[in-house]
Amino acid sequence: MQFHNPQADVFVPDGVEESPALSRTTHLSISAHQDDTEIMAYHGIWQCFGRSDRWFTGVVLTNGAGSPRTGIYGHYTDEEMQRVRLKEQRKAAYLGEYACVIQLGYSSSAVKDPNSAGVREDLLAILRVAKPEVVYLHNPADKHDTHVGTALRAIAALRELGTEYRPKKVYGCEVWRDLDWLPDEDKQVLPVSAQANLAASLVGLYDSQVSGGKRYDLATAGRRLANATYYASHAADVETALTYAMDLTPLIEDPGLSVAAYTLGFIDKLKADVEARLNRLG
Ligand SMILES: [Zn+2]
Repeated sequence: MQFHNPQADVFVPDGVEESPALSRTTHLSISAHQDDTEIMAYHGIWQCFGRSDRWFTGVVLTNGAGSPRTGIYGHYTDEEMQRVRLKEQRKAAYLGEYACVIQLGYSSSAVKDPNSAGVREDLLAILRVAKPEVVYLHNPADKHDTHVGTALRAIAALRELGTEYRPKKVYGCEVWRDLDWLPDEDKQVLPVSAQANLAASLVGLYDSQVSGGKRYDLATAGRRLANATYYASHAADVETALTYAMDLTPLIEDPGLSVAAYTLGFIDKLKADVEARLNRLG
């Protein structure tokens, strides 16, 4: 496949040719940075792990430029750091037995620019070959601009797909802001208790980030445990790890639906819930 950036990287862990590797995809994640996929879309990775009838593909938009660096990475140039991050994402694909991982190598500013056609066109080309049934995106209420830019570019590409290519389900997932605040009836509850060893390894292998001073490994596992425990106040825990997602499928089914209006609708429901309880008990 030909992408806009010559440095775009496609890695197929089992060595199958690029086109058949991508076209076997059933579950696909589109994320901003190396390691976001493993934090937000472990549900999809686990659903496909060790199976021959389901395949997970990760798409990462940015090049990892400007990453913080300490310890053994302290003296690395920005180019060297980008190579480290690319390699770490490849390691995750190998460990998680992905169909393939595609790192498109854009700058954050290109991803955040609504007029940058390259990102949307690359995503469209990938989606037409992959034809995923399930798609994992950042959620539009995330607090990281590049994550929200990524989600908006991905939604735009998904909306351009013909109906025969459209995924059955599109999730907006947790990274820089969890989704515990969503009304329970709107929470897409994704169980991720299985293969806790694999889940831990997939985040832990990002040494440049974790030993660089951000314990994403502990924080991600902690959030999943907290979600599972605090999900239902009166029921015993069935799952020991849950991730939450916002259902973004209606935004793809109805391209005229405003992303902002749809997202703010959940916030209005939260406001109404808090208000009603206070009025009832006050
Ligand atoms: Zn990120």
